[in-house]
Amino acid sequence: MHDHIETSETEEMTARVRALETILVEKCLVDPASLDAIIETYSEHVGPQNGAAVVARAWSDPAFADWLARDATAAIHSLGFTGRQGEHMQALFNTPDSHNLVVCTLCSCYPWATLGLPPVWYKSPPYRARAVRDPRGVLAEFGVDLPAETRIHVWDSTAELRYLVIPMRPAGTEGWSEGKLATCVSRNAMIGTGLAARP
Ligand code: FE
Repeated sequence: MHDHIETSETEEMTARVRALETILVEKCLVDPASLDAIIETYSEHVGPQNGAAVVARAWSDPAFADWLARDATAAIHSLGFTGRQGEHMQALFNTPDSHNLVVCTLCSCYPWATLGLPPVWYKSPPYRARAVRDPRGVLAEFGVDLPAETRIHVWDSTAELRYLVIPMRPAGTEGWSEGKLATCVSRNAMIGTGLAARP
């Protein structure tokens, strides 16, 4: 599903963004150094490791998990993760009966503060359309096979509200530290296109 559609689209988008950036820089409306700093922040310093820390804390601390369920924005902020595109968060807890999958059908809304920048496939029209129409088929392409009785809930992100999936804790991780638990949590597991697993 992903490969060839994505490549041509990415190239076209990259060319358009470059052209736009050139004009904005020439008109002194944008400072390239500030742009680079923002991109570096979100690609190097903010990333799925933040979300993984949130999940590991939720697995380890029932009071934190309860707080996360009631007020994800505040609970996540308490770990130091906040800012751009993470202002209003909702945590979605997977259970054996219910699996959560996140998409932005309109564009590419994504919880930057906990997951960093979105992967290219998340922004692609095929994912955005098919996650809603055929979530089980999309999950199968990501290698996720859920029991037929597990219901799949698809959540459409907006500019106002971003979602973080809290995957189920893998078996055999009893007594693990939060740091070790975090190694079970992939970016895709927090979007819902993956499951947490022991590394
Ligand atoms: Fe969006």
